[in-house]
Formats: sequence, C-alpha cells, structure tokens
Amino acid sequence: MEGISSVVYNKAMKYEMLKKCSVCDVCGGCQYQGMPYEEQLKLKEEKVRKLLGKFCKVNEIIGCDDPYYYRNKVQISFGKDYKGRILAGNYVTSTHTIVPVSDCQIADREANKIFNTIRKLLISFRLSVFDENSMQGLMRHVLVRCSADHEETMVVLVTGNFNFPRKNDFVKELLKRHPNITTVVQNINNRHTSMVLGDRDIVLYGKGYIVDELCGYSFRLSPQSFYQVNHAQTEKMYKYAIDCLGLTGKETVLDAYCGIGTIGIIMSERAKEVISVEINKSAIRDAVKNAKMNEISNVSFYCDDAGKFMQKIASEKRRVDVALMDPPRAGADDKFLKSLVRMDPRRIVYISCNPVTQKDNLKYLCNNGYKVDVIQPVDLFAFTQHVECIALLTKTK
Ligand code: SAH
Repeated sequence: MEGISSVVYNKAMKYEMLKKCSVCDVCGGCQYQGMPYEEQLKLKEEKVRKLLGKFCKVNEIIGCDDPYYYRNKVQISFGKDYKGRILAGNYVTSTHTIVPVSDCQIADREANKIFNTIRKLLISFRLSVFDENSMQGLMRHVLVRCSADHEETMVVLVTGNFNFPRKNDFVKELLKRHPNITTVVQNINNRHTSMVLGDRDIVLYGKGYIVDELCGYSFRLSPQSFYQVNHAQTEKMYKYAIDCLGLTGKETVLDAYCGIGTIGIIMSERAKEVISVEINKSAIRDAVKNAKMNEISNVSFYCDDAGKFMQKIASEKRRVDVALMDPPRAGADDKFLKSLVRMDPRRIVYISCNPVTQKDNLKYLCNNGYKVDVIQPVDLFAFTQHVECIALLTKTK
C-alpha cells in the first residue's frame, strides 16, 4: 500500500480484514468502526443511563437515519512517509505520525474528494508539506466545510508560512476540478501547536465564509467559528431542546455558550427576548451578522466568559424566565451555576457533549432547587464514542 510506514501498514492490514474502514485501528477518529449501528446506539444509551440514570428515566437515544459521511467540517493533515512521499490523513492516536485516509466514512463525500485532489496538486505543483520538527515547509492542514445542500463549500488551506508559491494557479486548478467550491481561504499557522488553525486568514477566492441553512434560518460560517458537525442530527437536537423550554412568546431566555448564535436565533420567534453569551470573539461577530441576516432584533449578544457574565447580570438583579446552556466538554463552572440559580429560571435546558461533567453540574442544580424531568441522549457522532445529551430541569417548588 503506497505511502504507509511499516508499523501503520501492518496494523491497518490486520484491521482491514475485520472492519470496514481500512485504517480505523490506527487513525483514532472512530472507536466504533465495524460495530453495527444499533449496537453503537445501545452502548451510548447505556453510558448515559449509567451516569445520569439516577436523576430520572433516560429516554431512548435519537439515532441517525444515515450514520455515514455526515461530518460537514473535516480536516486533514499533511506529512511525509519514510521515503519522502506526501501523505494526507489523520494523526495516529497520541502521535504525530500520519495515517493516510482517502475515504473517511464519517467525512462529507465531497470533502474526501477535495483532499485527494489537493494531495495530487501538491505533488504536481512541487509544493512542500510542513514539517513540525524543523517548522519548515508549506501545507500543514486542509479544512473543508460544506453547507447541507452542498451549494456552498469552503476550503481552508492551512500553511506554515505566508509565502505560498503560485497560489493563484493552485486555486484555479482546485476550482477547475471542484466547481462546487465557493470560497478558498489561506490560514497561516506558524506556531508550535496541535491546534489546526492559526489566527490569520487571507481570502484567496470567494467571500471567505459559507452560509448554511439550519431549522429554517441561515447561518454564516467562517473558518474559525464553531458549528455542529452533523446537520441532520443537530436539527433534531435543537428542535427537541427548544421544545423543552416550553416557550409561549412572553419569555426572556438565556442562551449560554451560544457559539455563532444558532439556538438563540432559532428560538427567537417563540420568545420575547433572548440574551446570548459566548467567549469567542469571532463567533460573536458571526452571531451578530447572523441575527441581522435573518432580520431578527430580539436577540442580544455578549462576548464574555459565561460565568463572569452571569455573575454580573445576576448582581444587577436581572431575571430570565428560562435558560438554555450548551457548555464545552469541561461543563459550566461554579460561578455560572451559582448565578444561574440566583436568577431563578423556571426551566433550564442543558445540552452537553460530555455526560461526565453534565452529571456534576446536574448534581449541583438538584441540590439547589431543581429536579431533572427529562434526559434525552442524541447521537451526533456515529462511529465515535461521543454522545450528546439534553437534560430538562424544572424547579422543585
Ligand atoms: N450552542 C452552540 C455552541 C456550543 S459549543 C452551538 O450549538 O453551536 C460550546 C461553546 O462554548 C463554544 O462556542 C465555545 O467557544 C464556548 N465557550 C467555551 N468556554 C466558554 C466560556 N467560559 N464562556 C462562554 N462561552 C464559552
């Protein structure tokens, strides 16, 4: 097999006979490859039940209609094999060795094709790939983001330095082979880091972002902004979570950890006012533009640490009728939870990508005047061990 170092090659071959994806044993992207989808769902549901089952009954997990090729954002890294040939793929778990991936089963199909084209173009343009040891070389990673209808596709070429020889010709060739690409951005990442993107974006073609439609609203996605990767499942999850809030149109709602404003914007027509907070500046910039693009004026966005923000507004004696929170894997901090309780919402909907930290946060809320009425797991990440979980809390009195 061309381009695989011997260690990776042997493991990959062994796995190929047992499992569908030839590199899943070494790639690190999927943990449940080769397992029937129904079984994956059962495992995830059980995991949630074990962790959260003592708060209330755990509903049957909401699974994917099609668990394959779902990721609308995919990234790939570049390196060389021991013969100096260019490799494009994912890092072997906990290492910086690249395992070549040419048809990732959870990546968007078009993204897979674009990666293969870019690898070939790098060779024909005689461009170098970035070497993390010497910190020299050009192409470091490529990120592809697609809209659900595939009308818009963004390609981000992450380079180790600014100087990209013949970049206009390179982009022209890429567009010729993939006319569905609507924008190409060069991102410069010259730091010693495991983060894919650096701070600087240069638009090489198109508008520098794509627009995706979610639950009937349009969202602008920049290279850096957070957006849920599984479109079909996100729509199911957001609808379920918003329904749990029980909105009548009269409520002031909190949307904490709001990202580019998706949930707040989607629920805005069912609320009087939405207050959204998010720490990432570029996400907030997108959120403000998203509200404008959808002609929504009852959502306000604040760029701040959610805990600090909540402390501030709680001490100003501001109230919210209901609250939605969607924190990162670490969960919410004490400042956030304490202030949330002080603000006394009648319902709290907690979306989590990590039931372990969700458990601790739910425990705190249950010790401070709330009970859990609903636990709804959702599968956003088929073939991986990750599980998303919605919890609805209401006041005990
Ligand atoms: N609700 C959004 C984003 C959820 S991901 C969606 O569904 O798309 C969690 C978000 O929390 C990320 O956008 C991240 O930037 C943000 N975040 C992380 N730490 C934060 C903090 N301390 N305060 C506010 N936002 C934070």
